[in-house]
Amino acid sequence: MKRILITGGAGFIGSHLCEKLLGMGNDIICLDNFFTGSRDNIKHLLDYHNFEVVRHDVTIPYYAEVDEIYNLACPASPIHYQYDALKTIRTSVMGAINVLDLAKDTNAKVLQASTSEVYGDPIVHPQVESYWGNVNPIGLRSCYDEGKRCAETLFMDYHRQYNIVIKLIRIFNTYGTRMSMNDGRVVSNFIVQALKNENITIYGNGSQTRSFQYVDDLIDGMLRMMGTSNDFTGPVNIGNPMEFTILELATLVIELTNSKSKLIFKDIPQDDPKQRRPDITLAKEKLNGWEPKIQLREGLSKTIEYFQKIIAGQ
Ligand code: NAD
Ligand code: UDP
Repeated sequence: MKRILITGGAGFIGSHLCEKLLGMGNDIICLDNFFTGSRDNIKHLLDYHNFEVVRHDVTIPYYAEVDEIYNLACPASPIHYQYDALKTIRTSVMGAINVLDLAKDTNAKVLQASTSEVYGDPIVHPQVESYWGNVNPIGLRSCYDEGKRCAETLFMDYHRQYNIVIKLIRIFNTYGTRMSMNDGRVVSNFIVQALKNENITIYGNGSQTRSFQYVDDLIDGMLRMMGTSNDFTGPVNIGNPMEFTILELATLVIELTNSKSKLIFKDIPQDDPKQRRPDITLAKEKLNGWEPKIQLREGLSKTIEYFQKIIAGQ
C-alpha cells in the first residue's frame, strides 16, 4: 500500500485515477480547489477510510508524507483555462514548483500530466516526443501551452539538480465518463448537443483533426508510467493514434445518438491546431507494450450512456 497524492483529483481524469488507485488498496489524498472539478465525481469514494479529500490550491505549498504524486491540477478545456489566463499559468508553474518541492522533501516519485499542446500547431505529423513543437508564446492558448511547457522544464531541472524521480507524460485528447456537461471540449459538447437535438457547433470547417483516447486507456498508461524504472523520465506520449476530422466525429456522434441535430459552422478559435496524432512507439516500448484498447465507437457509446443518465436526472 502506498500513500499517493493526486492533485486535481476531483476532475475528470483525476477522479478515475483516484478510483483506480483506491481500488488497488492505496491510501489516497485527493487535493483540489474545485475550479473545474466536482464533488459528484468523487462522492462514491468518500466512504473509503483510505480516501481523503483536501480543498487546497496547488499555487500554495502543501505538505503530507507521500510515496507518489500525480500532478493533474490545471483546467484543461480552452474556455476554462482562458477564463483566468494568469491563474492558469500560476497553477501550472507554481503548482509544479510546489509538488516538486514536496517530492524533494518526502523523496516521492512525481508524475506530471503534460499535454499534446506542448507541440502547439504541429508541423511534424504524427507528433514524436523529440519534436520541440510550434507554439505561439503570446496567443490565447499560450497560458496553457507555455505553462505546461515551463512545468516540463521545471520537472527536468529538479530531476537534474536534485535527482528527484520524475515522470512526464504528454496526454492527447482524452474523453469519457465524468467529463463535465459544460466542459466546452468537443466530445462533451457534441454528445450533449446531439442528445438534446440541438445544433452541433463545428468550429471552422471541421477539417482539423484530433486523436481521441478513452479515459481507461489513459489511466492504464499513467500507472504503467509511474511503475517504470527510476531513471526513465519521459516525456512519453499517451494517446490513441486513430485520427479523425472534427466533421467525422460529429457524424459518428449523430449516428450513435440517433440525433436530429444539424451541423452549424462557427469561427475557428485562435491558434486552433490543424492536426494532432500521437506517435506511440515510445509508450509501447517503455510501458510494457501499452496501447489503447478502446476505440472511438465503443468509447463514445459508453460516454453517451453516461450523459444520457445525467440529462435524464436534470
Ligand atoms: P479537469 O478540468 O476535469 O480537471 C482538472 C482538475 O484540477 C479539476 O478538478 C480542477 O478543479 C483542479 N484544479 C484546477 N486548478 C487548480 C488549482 N490551482 N489547485 C488545485 N486544483 C486545481 O481536466 P482533466 O481533463 O481531468 O485534466 C486533468 C489534467 O490532465 C490537467 O492537468 C490537464 O492539463 C491534463 N490533460 C488533459 C487532457 C484531456 O484531454 N483531458 C489532455 C492533456 C492534458
Ligand atoms: N471544437 C468544435 N466544436 C466544439 C468544441 C470544439 O468544433 O463545440 C473543435 C475545436 O475547435 C478543436 C477540436 O474541436 O479543433 C478539439 O477541441 P477541444 O476544445 O476539445 O480540444 P483541443 O483544441 O484542446 O484539442
